[in-house]
Amino acid sequence: MALPELKEFCLPESGGDVQNLLDKYGDSALLVAGGTFIHGLEARGFLSGTEALIDLRSLGLNTIQSEKKGIRVGATSNFASLEHLPGIDTPAFGALYDALAYPPAQIKNLATVGGSIAAACPFFDVPAAFQALDSTVAVAGPGGNREIPIDDIYAGMFENSLEQNEYISSLFIPQQDDRSASAYLKLETNANDLALVGVAVRITLGRKNKISDARVVLGGGLNDTFKRSSAAEFVLNGELANDDLFQRAADAIASDISPISDHRCSAEYRATIGRVYTKRALQRALERLA
Ligand SMILES: Cc1cc2nc3c(=O)[nH]c(=O)nc-3n(C[C@H](O)[C@H](O)[C@H](O)COP(=O)(O)OP(=O)(O)OC[C@H]3O[C@@H](n4cnc5c(N)ncnc54)[C@H](O)[C@@H]3O)c2cc1C
Repeated sequence: MALPELKEFCLPESGGDVQNLLDKYGDSALLVAGGTFIHGLEARGFLSGTEALIDLRSLGLNTIQSEKKGIRVGATSNFASLEHLPGIDTPAFGALYDALAYPPAQIKNLATVGGSIAAACPFFDVPAAFQALDSTVAVAGPGGNREIPIDDIYAGMFENSLEQNEYISSLFIPQQDDRSASAYLKLETNANDLALVGVAVRITLGRKNKISDARVVLGGGLNDTFKRSSAAEFVLNGELANDDLFQRAADAIASDISPISDHRCSAEYRATIGRVYTKRALQRALERLA
């Protein structure tokens, strides 16, 4: 495979500089942050035509700030820094805690929050947890900044919904309810594998211990992108949390999946494991509330 002919490596120091570079190089520019997925893009043929790499790491976006209504994590913050987020050891943040257990230390030190989302790879773990926590993504572009729900950022496998001259500047994780718990479970073939199936869930208990708010996020090849299962969430909302309910919610994901078959496993296998892991993730979340 022919390697791309890179002509420039740019290290802009301001958002304005990024915009100028994106204007200058257009389609032949590629943003880079931790750089850990660049080989993955290259192997899939996405780098042909790339002439300039625009490294975002000098923009000062590696900050983590507590705000009134949640935590704002700069786009170039690495996974390792997420391990020190305020509240990371609470039940509500369980999905993120679980997901961060998977990447090896070298990746945690490099991989960034923005890159993990922008890559739009449903086989990653950490973005599924961001979604279960109802995070939003701040996007910078020529027209200023806009904030979008993370649910809306995925356009397809390896395809995000950002406009040509936009980039992710931060992730906002809203404050979680005291009676919320979340969990993430992944099936992998070995300790360094991408997810065959990944499921992140969150439940919040309300009056009389009934579930007042549920999230079920499916990843890892159950669809082309990370996708919430509205059918499973519908089953869960307003009901008493127990194994029977979790089984019904797990069965309900069937209407929200379109699993892929590949060299790692079949669509049928993914569908079966998806059900099993949805139920187990819900059980794990409930155990965290106990
Ligand atoms: C050996 C290995 C093991 C891994 N294990 C795991 C694991 O266990 N769990 C897991 O969840 N993930 C895992 N990953 C995947 C890893 O999480 C991603 O590669 C990483 O999150 C991508 O982030 P990055 O900063 O390195 O992005 P980059 O590689 O720099 O970029 C990835 C893509 O995002 C774009 N991009 C980057 N930043 C921005 C931005 N701010 N705005 C817009 N576009 C942007 C780039 O243009 C590129 O298209 C693993 C990767 C490797 C190589």
